[in-house]
Amino acid sequence: MIEYRLQQARKAAGFSLRELADKTEVSHTAIGKFEKGELTPNSTQLLKLAKALNIRVEYFFRPQKTELQAIEYRKRASFSKKDQDRVEGDILEQAERWQELHNLYLCPPIQIFSPPSSLVYPKTEDDLEDFAKQVREAWKWGFHALPDLINLLEFQGIIVIVTGVEAEKFDGLSAHVGKQALIVINSHWTGDRQRFTLAHELGHLLLHGHLPEDLDEEKACNHFAGALLLPKAALFQQTGEKTRHHIEARELYGLKHEFGLSMRACLHRFKQTGLINESVFKRWQIHFNIQKWCEKEPGDAYPQETTTLFEQLVYRGLAEEYYGDAKAAELLNMSLVDFRHQRNFSDN
Ligand SMILES: [Zn+2]
Repeated sequence: MIEYRLQQARKAAGFSLRELADKTEVSHTAIGKFEKGELTPNSTQLLKLAKALNIRVEYFFRPQKTELQAIEYRKRASFSKKDQDRVEGDILEQAERWQELHNLYLCPPIQIFSPPSSLVYPKTEDDLEDFAKQVREAWKWGFHALPDLINLLEFQGIIVIVTGVEAEKFDGLSAHVGKQALIVINSHWTGDRQRFTLAHELGHLLLHGHLPEDLDEEKACNHFAGALLLPKAALFQQTGEKTRHHIEARELYGLKHEFGLSMRACLHRFKQTGLINESVFKRWQIHFNIQKWCEKEPGDAYPQETTTLFEQLVYRGLAEEYYGDAKAAELLNMSLVDFRHQRNFSDN
């Protein structure tokens, strides 16, 4: 198992064999042999490797091997293989801790995600408006703003992982780990961008395998995300239903902060719902480009999404005596000393 773990951790850290050798004073040929299982590191070497890779030694001995299945990426075209390895390494590491926590509980603490059975799947792009409405109805989300989207998804049995790996080109992904559905977002993006990714990836989890051939899944998930976060009915309540020849930037800004959807995505909603025609939409797109709002939108950013569920469940398991504080510290990826300070609200 050590060979697989070592390679996983090295890739997650973004090191080549030689770079890791330089940091540990263990030769790169030896590290290469450890990774092939031809040689076993001694305890001093393991400590050096763990330190350089910023992981706990226990990591090398984790029993089960986790794999991400059915991955759907949301990324820019130039996302490099090295960045992909780093991102996937971090996700796997977090997903494994989730799985371990799951296995330690007597009854699984979260349900398995399954799409509502009542859903009628879309045949055309326009049907996505109604599809998003069906999802909101089935989960009793009403038609107002959804302020804490991660929490709502977790309640449906979707595990949300926030990766802090600095990979410019990575927005998020959805995948399965065993039976568990998983959505990953990047901690470096603004809240509106994270939320669009969450809704888009939810689209993949719901729509994959259910779309007609002539409907592009990426496009469908984008439309679904907009319609889910800002339903037509909620939009019309603010804008009226009359076709517009002009919109104000402040209207887009107001909608952004109410519904947690970028101004640009709100503009798309105006077009999708028929409030503006193609030429008004194009004019606004040019305006966005000139103002450089595509890179950074004006005014305040929308607050980021966060999740506390994992930590919450680690403490719950500790309280229910499924494990002791050493295991809890390991699950939270902390030293035992730091964990005890956190547990007791005491200063270092
Ligand atoms: Zn996608």
